[in-house]
Amino acid sequence: MFKRILLTLVLLFSSGHTFAYDSNALNFSSINITRSLNYDAQKANISPKVVATIVRVFSWKIDFNRDLQKGDRFIIVGNKKTNPTAIIYLGAKERIAVFSYTDKRGRTGYYDINGKSLYPSFLRAPLKYDRISSKFQRSRFHPVLKTWRPHRAVDYAAKRGAPVYSVASGVIQHRKRMGALGNAVYIKHGSNYVTVYAHLSSFARGLRASSKVRKGQVIGYVGSTGRSTGPHLHYELRYKGIRKNPLTYQLPKQKNVARVDLWRFKNKAGKILNSLNNH
Ligand SMILES: [Zn+2]
Repeated sequence: MFKRILLTLVLLFSSGHTFAYDSNALNFSSINITRSLNYDAQKANISPKVVATIVRVFSWKIDFNRDLQKGDRFIIVGNKKTNPTAIIYLGAKERIAVFSYTDKRGRTGYYDINGKSLYPSFLRAPLKYDRISSKFQRSRFHPVLKTWRPHRAVDYAAKRGAPVYSVASGVIQHRKRMGALGNAVYIKHGSNYVTVYAHLSSFARGLRASSKVRKGQVIGYVGSTGRSTGPHLHYELRYKGIRKNPLTYQLPKQKNVARVDLWRFKNKAGKILNSLNNH
């Protein structure tokens, strides 16, 4: 249904039309990607603030460097200067629609048609472990190298072969043997977060670089490959390339539209999609 609506939308849509909605008129603007989001947004008279919102909201689903292609488009519904009512991405491979919602504390965010934010929630730990064998620390005596060096990760002692899970939905960046890390998997979550899982005995079947993974999906099994003294998982959490302490770092939590507002929210979202379709 949704797919059909949007396909029709691609065929019918041209910018600058106005549609009746709840007695207010909604404006629809379109950013057609020819060169880059910034360039094409400016051409379409979409404010930098809205462009920043698009990047912030959609970077959980779209890699703006890799996935965005000529011919993709963004439909901006409503205000194209500050907070649009809805933003719809129409890509070659994927179509994603988000709708604005202001919570009772006055914060406006964007949610999918089911009322969920696009950013994922994260598991607290990527496996069922026996104990933490090494914490995140500035300096520790390395058991193999016999020198003091930082350990910007958490080591979880666990049984060889214990399954290791992706802590959140994301895309596999690397899945290969990597020197001291042994068999390692790097997973990208949105544009800013990367998690690293190292010393694996083996990888889960069917996964390769650029595979999508879900939260809780098995990506490999605990082992002792690379520079390691016994079976454990070396786990890193990186934000904008900087390794953070996975045990204390405050990860974003997935947000939902408040239950009391959900029916109204879904109704509004459905109307917006329909008005696009019916035009
Ligand atoms: Zn480690």
